[in-house]
Amino acid sequence: MKITCIGAGYVGGPTMAMIAYKCPDIQVVVVDINAARIAAWNSEELPIYEPGLFEVVKAARGRNLFFSTDTQKHVAEGDIIFVSVNTPTKTRGVGAGKAADLTYWEGAARLIASVSTTSKIVVEKSTVPVKTAEAIEKVLRRNCADPNVAFEILSNPEFLAEGTAMEDLAMPDRVLIGGKETESGQRAIGVLKSVYEHWIPSERILCANLWSAELSKLTANAFLAQRISSINSISALCEATGADVQQVAHSIGTDTRIGGKFLNASVGFGGSCFQKDILNLVYICETVGLKQVADYWNSVVQINDYQKQRFVERMIDAMFNTISGKKITVLGFAFKKDTGDTRETPAIDVCKGLMADNAMINIYDPKVTEAQIHNDLSLGKFMWDHPTTAGTKSPRQNSVSVFKDAYEACKDSHALAVLTEWDEFKRLNFQKIYDSMMKPAFVFDGRNILDHAQLRSIGFIVYALGKPLDP
Ligand code: NAD
Repeated sequence: MKITCIGAGYVGGPTMAMIAYKCPDIQVVVVDINAARIAAWNSEELPIYEPGLFEVVKAARGRNLFFSTDTQKHVAEGDIIFVSVNTPTKTRGVGAGKAADLTYWEGAARLIASVSTTSKIVVEKSTVPVKTAEAIEKVLRRNCADPNVAFEILSNPEFLAEGTAMEDLAMPDRVLIGGKETESGQRAIGVLKSVYEHWIPSERILCANLWSAELSKLTANAFLAQRISSINSISALCEATGADVQQVAHSIGTDTRIGGKFLNASVGFGGSCFQKDILNLVYICETVGLKQVADYWNSVVQINDYQKQRFVERMIDAMFNTISGKKITVLGFAFKKDTGDTRETPAIDVCKGLMADNAMINIYDPKVTEAQIHNDLSLGKFMWDHPTTAGTKSPRQNSVSVFKDAYEACKDSHALAVLTEWDEFKRLNFQKIYDSMMKPAFVFDGRNILDHAQLRSIGFIVYALGKPLDP
C-alpha cells in the first residue's frame, strides 16, 4: 500500500511521520508545492518544532517516509491520498472574515482527479466545513477522464495539539473516521482503520457518517475554545470581586462532570485553528438560518478579544497610564509553549496594543525567530480600536527589539509581561532581573505560571490574571 499526503505543514508532516514510523510495511510520501518546506523536511533542520518529531522523522525517513515536490507522480501512485492543506478564513468576498477558504482544497482535488488512473481513497485531514465531501466528490468525479476510476471520500479530522503533537499521535484519545454508509464507503473505512490499527487499539477508533465526522472537528475546537473563554470571563469577575480564578478553577474542576483540564485563565487563546474554526461554525449556522446559535458561538471569540484588550488596558493603567517611551519586556511570543508557531498568537495583539501607546517592546521567545516576530508585528491592523489611539497612530516598527537571552531583554525595562507559558520562565533568577530593571518594576503574568509571592517579596508589583491585586 502507498499513502500520499498533500500538504507538508504542521499536520501533514507529523501525522505522516507517525504513520510511517508505526507502519514499516506502508510507503508514505508527503508532497508540497512549497519547495523550501520540502527541502527542510529532508534536512537536519525540520521546518517546524515539535518535541520528539525529529527522532521519529529520522527513524523513518529514507526507509518508508519520503518528502517530495513531485506532487503529480506521488498522487498518481497513491492508494490513499490524505489532503492536509491549509483551510484559512476567507479574506474577501462572500463570507469574508468567517467562512473557510477552500481554494487549496479544491486545487488538491482537481490535481487528484487529473492524474488518477487507479481508484483512490481520498481522506480529508484538513479541517473543513460540514458537507465539504459532497463538493469534493463533484470536483473529483467531473475532472477525472477515466470513468472506471472510483473515489471514496473519508473524513479523518486531526485532533493533535501543537506542542504535544507527537504524544497525541502516538497515543490519541481517539481517531475518528467518517465515511458513507454504502458498501464501498464501509470498505474504505476498513482500509484506513487497518492503517491506524498498527498501533492504536481498535476501541479508540471511532467510525461515523461523513457529516458527523466533519462537524465533530469544528465542534471539538469550538468546545475547547469555549472552555478557555468561559474561565477567562470568570477571571475578569475574580479581579472585580477579589476571588482567585485558580481557586475557582480547582473547585469546579473536581466536579467530574466539568473536569479539571483546559481551565487555566490566560491572556487568550491563539493558534491557527480555534478562532478560524469557530468563525467557520458561526458562518455555517448563519447560512442555515440559525442566528441565535451563531451568536452563541461568536461570543467565544468576542470574549477572547476582550481578554487581550483587558490585559493591555490593565498594564497601561497600572503603569500610571503612561507607557510612552517606556521599555516593556515580553516573555514568550509563540501562541503556546513547546512550539515556534505564532499564528494568531495573543502576543501579536498585546504587543500592538502597547506599541500603539508608544511603548518600546523587548521580546524574548526561546523558539520564535526575530524575522518571524518582525513579520507578525508588521502585518494587519489592530484587533481592537484602542481608545487612546483609534485611527490616529499605527505601531512603529523600530520600537521592537528581539533578544536571544531573557536577562538581556529585561534590562532597563519598566515591566515584564509573560505571554507564553514556557517552563524556562519559571526558572529565571528574578532577583537578578529585578536588580537590572527600572523601578517600580512590574510583572504582568498573562499565564499565571510565576511564583507571585516570591516576586512580591523581591519588590515587584504583580498583576496576575484573575487574582487579587497588590494592596
Ligand atoms: P500549514 O499551512 O502548516 O500546511 C499546509 C501545507 O499545504 C502548506 O505547506 C502548503 O504549501 C500546502 N499546500 C497547499 N496547497 C497545496 C497543493 N495544491 N499541493 C501541495 N501542497 C499544498 O497548515 P496546517 O497547520 O498543517 O493545517 C492543515 C489543516 O489541518 C488545516 O485545515 C487546519 O485547520 C487543520 N488542523 C491543524 C492543526 C494544527 O494544530 N495546526 C490541528 C488540527 C487540524
